[in-house]
Amino acid sequence: RNSNKLLWVEQLSKCYQNRQAVKDISFSLDEGDIFAFLGPNGAGKTTTLRLLLDIIKADSGIISWNINGKNTRLPSSQEIGYLPEERGLYPELPIIRTLVYIATIRGMDADAARKAAMEWLEKVGLADRAGEKLQALSKGNQQKIQFIASILHKPAFVILDEPFSGLDPINQEQFIEYIKEINRQGTTILLSAHQMPLVERLAKKVFLMNRGEQIFHGELAEIFKTYGHQHILNISF
Ligand code: ATP
Repeated sequence: RNSNKLLWVEQLSKCYQNRQAVKDISFSLDEGDIFAFLGPNGAGKTTTLRLLLDIIKADSGIISWNINGKNTRLPSSQEIGYLPEERGLYPELPIIRTLVYIATIRGMDADAARKAAMEWLEKVGLADRAGEKLQALSKGNQQKIQFIASILHKPAFVILDEPFSGLDPINQEQFIEYIKEINRQGTTILLSAHQMPLVERLAKKVFLMNRGEQIFHGELAEIFKTYGHQHILNISF
């Protein structure tokens, strides 16, 4: 077992009633990776991410984490960030209060959280709206706030479930830059997406799944070689 492995998953399976949502999938992530899950609706991406986070229990398989050099069954909330598929923070709270609140739950000092939050709000062009209620923002801007909430505490690892969904092309471009930036700052990233043209600009490694089954796991370059670049870009997930 390679010591740089941050996450190691073997033969993970999950059945809901009689629906096999995830079937015997195996993959691993190195520290520093940007790793993307791709697949059509119902492929099992969200189920897999929830299994990793221990939100739901696997029927079988191994999930092993090694964060900051220590083995754990599950990282602490300080070590991990999560942008869930179902969006939703506190619509009635001022944006800055929500961000500070969430970061302090995850172990950050309130002053440091406020400073980091203002820096991120500046970066995404929303600093002048810090005191407004979240619900006053557009959908795309709310998604930026929720993204910031998931990474403000500088987790070692972040899971982004469909970060591009519901965004217009301009916002999608911006999210690509934000994700690259947190990765440069040292956060390992696991994301799910439908859009290969976005993923290919971000991810080094991809995992293709369909109907719960693993179709491909490996380097992006390898998938293009195997399936043909144009072909894979045109697959509509
Ligand atoms: P999407 O892009 O639509 O989010 P996905 O790849 O994330 O798709 P999952 O949400 O993991 O897929 O769903 C995988 C399968 O499991 C689907 O057939 C779905 O209907 C089923 N499923 C998901 N959650 C449950 C649940 N709580 N109870 C029963 N079936 C479920």
